[in-house]
Amino acid sequence: MTTGEPLRRGVGSTQQTVRRQNLALVLREIAEGEPVSRAGVAQRTGLTRGTVSSLVEELIAGELVTELAAARGTTGRPASPLQLNRAGPAGLGIEIGVDEVAACVVDLAGTVRARRSTPSDHRTREPTAGLDRAADLAADVVAEAGLPVEGAGVALPGVVGRDGVLQRAPNLPRWVDVAVDAELAARLGLPVDVGNEADLAAAAELWFGDAPTDFVHVSGGIGVGGGIVLGGELFRGPGGRAGELGHLVVDPDGPVCSCGGRGCLEQLAGQPALLAAAGVADVGDLLRSPGPAVAVAGRALGVALAGVVNLVDVPTVVLGGLYARLGAPLAVAVTAELRERVPSRTDLRVRLSAPDTGGALRAAAGLVVRRRLRQP
Ligand SMILES: [Zn+2]
Repeated sequence: MTTGEPLRRGVGSTQQTVRRQNLALVLREIAEGEPVSRAGVAQRTGLTRGTVSSLVEELIAGELVTELAAARGTTGRPASPLQLNRAGPAGLGIEIGVDEVAACVVDLAGTVRARRSTPSDHRTREPTAGLDRAADLAADVVAEAGLPVEGAGVALPGVVGRDGVLQRAPNLPRWVDVAVDAELAARLGLPVDVGNEADLAAAAELWFGDAPTDFVHVSGGIGVGGGIVLGGELFRGPGGRAGELGHLVVDPDGPVCSCGGRGCLEQLAGQPALLAAAGVADVGDLLRSPGPAVAVAGRALGVALAGVVNLVDVPTVVLGGLYARLGAPLAVAVTAELRERVPSRTDLRVRLSAPDTGGALRAAAGLVVRRRLRQP
């Protein structure tokens, strides 16, 4: 483990920097997937066996890596495979929804080890009540997981500044300029990181699904969320507000939107609009008999996404949330609209979100363990 002491100047600091980088490199190889031996790590990283052994000892001492029993029946000295320590440092994830709060704990490998959710009215009650509820639920889920949780990530349904303050949330009118990070850090006694839930849902596709390194994720719900991933990194923009796909204007004369604009994608392809198009009262009925809702959503999404494709050159669109549940017919409709509007691009792909990524909640917890893996 690193000691946390400041780097000294000169040769010592350079050596220490190199060692830290190598430590992260070795950990990344071990985190890659199947258990791997020290010799395998040396081969893949190009480091010497001696260096790898010394770094691995440090990672084991820091409880980031464990050694499995050596394979039996091999000749010579058996190699002990290494893998991430499932009992090591863990991450807490919290998601504050419109009328629910959820919490989970993931281990170092990103596996969800405990998860709970409970109704919580965030539309009409004070933010402090919702934060108290979230902290109580988090304490329960941490106790259930029984792992050493070293930080929390929080997914929020609104605009989150780089300072960790929730500036506004269209569906939570009372949550204006709430320092969710500081409020929850005080309640939990843990460092807290916050993010927009649509961004984190996109991150979940990247980290836990099978999405490529460049894509736009659009998620249907009461609002419409977007996240743009470029080169394997979330693109948040200088103020953290990039990817607000739900507020791209699709119909300049369309209905007034919660953002103050008019004819936004969210107004035309959000859940209320699709329920109205299908003439049904709830999502269950919508999924059973979507009727014209698929064509309505396909057209509005295709128009908005054509702009995104032209602007940032992302070949892949991933449909999540309600859109993933509407399934292949919607993907077909969006593809047709996109092909018509961007005919020069023959490489465009529209796919459905992987079913078990765990979404924004798991990615919120993933923030914690992924940081740990990058900085062992
Ligand atoms: Zn809008």
